[in-house]
Amino acid sequence: DDSTTGNAWDELPIRDELRGQSPYGAPQLDVPVRLNTNENPYPLPEALVDRIAERVREAARDLNRYPDRDAVELRTELARYLTRTAGHEVGPAGVWAANGSNEVLQQLLQTFGGPGRTAIGFEPSYSMHALIARGTGTGWLSGPRNEDFTIDVAAAREMIAEQRPDVVFITSPNNPTGTAVDARTVLDLYEAAQAAKPSMVVVDEAYGEFSHHPSLLPLIEGRPHLVLSRTMSKAFGAAGLRLGYLAADPAVVDAVQLVRLPYHLSSITQATALAALEHTDTLLGYVAQLKSERDRLVDELRALGFQVTESDANFVQFGRFADSRTAWQRILDQGVLVRDNGVPGWLRVSAGTPAENDAFLDAARTLVTENA
Ligand code: PMP
Repeated sequence: DDSTTGNAWDELPIRDELRGQSPYGAPQLDVPVRLNTNENPYPLPEALVDRIAERVREAARDLNRYPDRDAVELRTELARYLTRTAGHEVGPAGVWAANGSNEVLQQLLQTFGGPGRTAIGFEPSYSMHALIARGTGTGWLSGPRNEDFTIDVAAAREMIAEQRPDVVFITSPNNPTGTAVDARTVLDLYEAAQAAKPSMVVVDEAYGEFSHHPSLLPLIEGRPHLVLSRTMSKAFGAAGLRLGYLAADPAVVDAVQLVRLPYHLSSITQATALAALEHTDTLLGYVAQLKSERDRLVDELRALGFQVTESDANFVQFGRFADSRTAWQRILDQGVLVRDNGVPGWLRVSAGTPAENDAFLDAARTLVTENA
């Protein structure tokens, strides 16, 4: 926390709600094994790299022009991808894309949150939900979870009824815990949110492809205030691309047009994303490998005596540590960077390649021996 040491911007007339805050900051350290930001460890296949180069080359010829503002071709392909893999038919009118799902979420809060309004998330969860709320002037409410990190539905319903938030975030699978949310819980919270206001319910499915369970996408049918958010950063192994998208009732897509910057998705981004979508099957093959590596991490960490939270994502939360900061440092000393999310007693490791996971498990093993 930098707030006590002073920041370069302290002297500037920044907004009051930003004063004393810290920016999002996962350490980007140069160590041999980086398993701290839930990236996909597999570089894009060479054939896809070539296809990207081809499509970007074509796009480059038209760079004197603004890109397709409505990204129609890209939204059509994303809709086809969802229809094929997520168990529900959607069309391009019900899909919207932006620079990472972070921008999707920001556009949603600019549209449905903002000054005088509030959003709720069930914590611990993805820290950017609260940060984007702050950035958009939206009030933030921290909702309850059970000991096992599932959402405490009864308490959540009560809080929604009392606080009447304008936006409800449900992260499934949840980051940093890996916990999937079942359809029943989403429906219960949606019902509570509609009774209270009505408000928008955003299901953040950034890790959806890694789950043991089917996507929650079919729930948007007949629920005009339910939004599903997705990303190409994880399953498509394209975090550097910055491409996130949502699926919802077409009216929601129309509404975010009010806040999106014109031409927000560059021609280069659209061309690259379209190339990646052509290689969906290969990329989903890597997802299958990562899922089995994730399951192996869970099993082996448990065999070593760690507590491990059930995971449906491409990472695993493990503990418990009397002092997670020290454990994090011990693992780092062995060349493996994991994540200390500030959940007391727990750390998070992303599933890497088999060799990276072995290096991590070796480091974890020494922790056990040291503590024995
Ligand atoms: N949602 C969740 C739950 C995440 O963990 C992340 C990335 N860490 C994001 C959204 C944002 O991802 P991106 O902006 O790369 O799509």
